[in-house]
Amino acid sequence: MSHRLTFDVTRRALDSGAISVERVTSEFLNAVEEGKRLNAFLSVFQDRAMEQARAVDRKLAAGKGGALAGMVVALKDVLCMEGERTTCGSKMLENFVSLYDATAVARLRAADAVLIGKTNMDEFAMGSSTENSAFGPVRNPVDETRVPGGSSGGSCVAVAAGMAHAALGTDTGGSIRQPAAFCGVVGLKPTYGRVSRYGLVALSSSFDQIGPFANSVRDAARVLQVIAGHDDRDSTSATVPVPAYEAALTKEVRGKRIGLPVEAFGEGLAPDIRRAIDGCVELLRAGGAVISDVSLPHSPYNISAYYILMTAEASSNLARYDGARYGHRSEKARDLASMYTLSRSEGFGPETKRRIMLGTYVLSAGYYDAYYRKAQRVRRLIQNDFLEAFRNVDCLLMPTTPTTAFGSGEKIDDPLAMYLSDIYTVSANLAGIPAISVPCGRDGQGLPIGVQVLGPQFGEPAILNVADYLEQAN
Ligand code: GLN
Repeated sequence: MSHRLTFDVTRRALDSGAISVERVTSEFLNAVEEGKRLNAFLSVFQDRAMEQARAVDRKLAAGKGGALAGMVVALKDVLCMEGERTTCGSKMLENFVSLYDATAVARLRAADAVLIGKTNMDEFAMGSSTENSAFGPVRNPVDETRVPGGSSGGSCVAVAAGMAHAALGTDTGGSIRQPAAFCGVVGLKPTYGRVSRYGLVALSSSFDQIGPFANSVRDAARVLQVIAGHDDRDSTSATVPVPAYEAALTKEVRGKRIGLPVEAFGEGLAPDIRRAIDGCVELLRAGGAVISDVSLPHSPYNISAYYILMTAEASSNLARYDGARYGHRSEKARDLASMYTLSRSEGFGPETKRRIMLGTYVLSAGYYDAYYRKAQRVRRLIQNDFLEAFRNVDCLLMPTTPTTAFGSGEKIDDPLAMYLSDIYTVSANLAGIPAISVPCGRDGQGLPIGVQVLGPQFGEPAILNVADYLEQAN
């Protein structure tokens, strides 16, 4: 299997009759088996994927293949798929089997993508390293002593290690873009509301978005095309029409106005990353883009606002895991109260407990005004900063992460250091805007670097255009 396959290669081979979807799928399944030590998958749909592949072959033979016919896709284990386990990386849901398909999953299947398995993740999508899974950490295929980023580490590694053409992840504060940067793949977080969250287990409902990992911007655009669009089952899904994303991939950036947020290039940014981003700026300038400095003055408050609001929402979303309705129920419980406390104490891991406590604290009567309400106001100021910036520029360009992939175990005992690794990603979620990370070279140790392009709400075409340009130029 050629490492890191883009869908174009497969599609050409399928069109010429050189290969079948069945064969493609079995090769990917072999790659999953060979890459087991990376711990990227929590379940593999061995038989179901092969069955689906044969059905797609039949459709192709009849000239009725869907838009993604023959694309092999992995799903983060926070997305429901009927009849399969959805663990959310937690002991709490270890044996939970989904009763229905998430809308994004149903749409992939309807477009004839082959679903290969569910991927490992930080418990309930809380984390930046995929070390918080109840089922063991995921390793970075570029350097196995390092983390792949998180929380969608398994989905990212599935793509980076050639176990799928593409994968779905979720991004609440960077969980698609940060691992994409750490493993050298493309990761796209769409506008809040662009993709239905129906069937996505909620972490922080006003931040969560589903998006693709892929080995090319074009493949990410293809997946987005299929999963985007209004869904009656998610009232926050937008009714804005879905444009033709691939049409934006023109390799042309002449006249595009691109802003560099000055606050994102300050202290704490690794020099190799700074150099790589400077290189991207030069490429864009050479292509005729108009580059200017912009300011997002409230950026220093990004991390605090994010971690107050996301923990508040997470604590309320996770209240449903009480041993009565879903998931783990303690065997030691003697009465109702002890069933709640023991089930939750046994079922949740340490990071989840930390965030539930933080979230209930900021929502408590005595501290609500000081933390939750204030953070909501700061969120609005951060959104306004972006609105102001997008009056003058089409896109913003900045690093995805302050450093390249850090070592396994390096930050796991220091939550604050872990949270700070999200410094460049959380603002897009606070503002609800789309952002994409594209590989742009390597650092001195050979580790991938990601450049991030952000756009205004529903500005996916603009960021895909710039990302595609940078991808071919890099
Ligand atoms: N790393 C961030 C966090 O731990 C983002 C998580 C996410 O996007 N799901 O909250």
